[in-house]
Amino acid sequence: RVRTRFAPSPTGYMHIGNLRTALYTYFIARKNGGDFILRIEDTDQERYVEGAVDVIYRTLRMAGITWDEGPDIGGPVGPYVQSERMGMFKDYALKLVEQGDAYYCFCDKERLASLHEADGVGAMYDGHCRNLSPEEVQQKLDAGVPYVIRQKMPKEGTTTFHDEIYGDITVENASLDDQILIKTDGMPTYNFANVVDDHTMGITHVVRGNEYLSSTPKYNLLYQAFGWEVPHYIHCAPVMKDAHNKLSKRNGDASFEDLIAKGFLPEAVVNYIALLGWAPKGENEIYTLPELIAEFDLSGISKAPAIFDPLKLKAINAEHIRRMSPAQFAESIRPYLDKTLTRRDYDLAVLAKVLQPRTEQMTDVIDQVDFIDSLPEYDNAMYCHKKMKTTEESALQALRMVLPVLEALPEWTESAIHDALMGLAAEQGVKNGWLLWPVRTAVSGKQVSPGGGVELCAILGREDTLARIRKGIE
Ligand code: GLU
Repeated sequence: RVRTRFAPSPTGYMHIGNLRTALYTYFIARKNGGDFILRIEDTDQERYVEGAVDVIYRTLRMAGITWDEGPDIGGPVGPYVQSERMGMFKDYALKLVEQGDAYYCFCDKERLASLHEADGVGAMYDGHCRNLSPEEVQQKLDAGVPYVIRQKMPKEGTTTFHDEIYGDITVENASLDDQILIKTDGMPTYNFANVVDDHTMGITHVVRGNEYLSSTPKYNLLYQAFGWEVPHYIHCAPVMKDAHNKLSKRNGDASFEDLIAKGFLPEAVVNYIALLGWAPKGENEIYTLPELIAEFDLSGISKAPAIFDPLKLKAINAEHIRRMSPAQFAESIRPYLDKTLTRRDYDLAVLAKVLQPRTEQMTDVIDQVDFIDSLPEYDNAMYCHKKMKTTEESALQALRMVLPVLEALPEWTESAIHDALMGLAAEQGVKNGWLLWPVRTAVSGKQVSPGGGVELCAILGREDTLARIRKGIE
């Protein structure tokens, strides 16, 4: 059974690249009818970040990703927070010591520092304690000398592992450091905990950033030493801001939550992020989450880094907006309107109808609706429109004709207003535009407004419309 996991470290910020990893991991599980597991990797953290795990939950939920096992819902192989699993790692390491695949290392800080001084900061451990005799080891243990447990890398030969994206990768064993598995405090290192957790949780597919490619041979040797089945590896190239820089919090690049706050729809962001480094088979680029699951295929993942393109995101967002039902769109702009406007008694359905084709990002609505709360100052010259053949005088004339008709309207709906004003234009033998352009200007104070005169009257309601038209005539 396919089991995948998303294993974020709680840093308080969900990168776009992290979320992409989560998506691909989730797609593989769902596509294969397998399990998707959430594991919080909080061991190697410099400091505890308040609320960091909540950011992970919130982001995944907003993205529509559901997990089958995780810290909040439990599951058969829990706990799902790495720091709560600490008890078991040392026993696994001791097993490796017993079989000769790991060893106690008693080197102190000073000795290690001197190695670094001699060979540079990234210097490998020199194997000083690799071949201590069992007696020497026992003696030091009895004496209470602090120790770490290191992985015993083979000195000769090569290690090869297979990555689904990069193919077979082979490294010289001599280039592999005898990395620490258990630290002086008895806790596992991140690399060791990650492997043991993946195995004990039955993970079959490991999806992660390609910065882990260089650690994978060491992971592989651990799997081999334990006699465990190696998972499928899927390493993904990073998401970049431009040719040289990764997207990062430090550079102020947007997180998923930031993008939502900027007015992008969660499903559009998910759609776009899925395409960063994965190409679907056909031409289509607009997908819902279930469509992505159906379409996803490992062979479409690219080896090359993807560049985050805000314009492309915007275009995809606009397309998702166009595909929303009017009711869905109305619901999703409501929070933005509530933040922008004090009035609540406008016709949301009509407003949403005129805004939908003019919105690429939800925040676009904010600048278009200011006229609802109060009529902006406008200059009578705005009544003049060449194509509509309107002048300041003709506009006043038109408004004087319109006012009694609207005053007498029994029912204030878009279609009633439409029929009444079209009827009036026909009866007076004037062009619709000649009659409606002045109405648009008088009620919105704008030449560019969402919707024309009829829609604006419907949005504003009877009282406000009549007051604004009267003011225009004054
Ligand atoms: N905790 C790691 C990270 O956030 C995940 C590494 C992995 O998936 O193996 O980058």
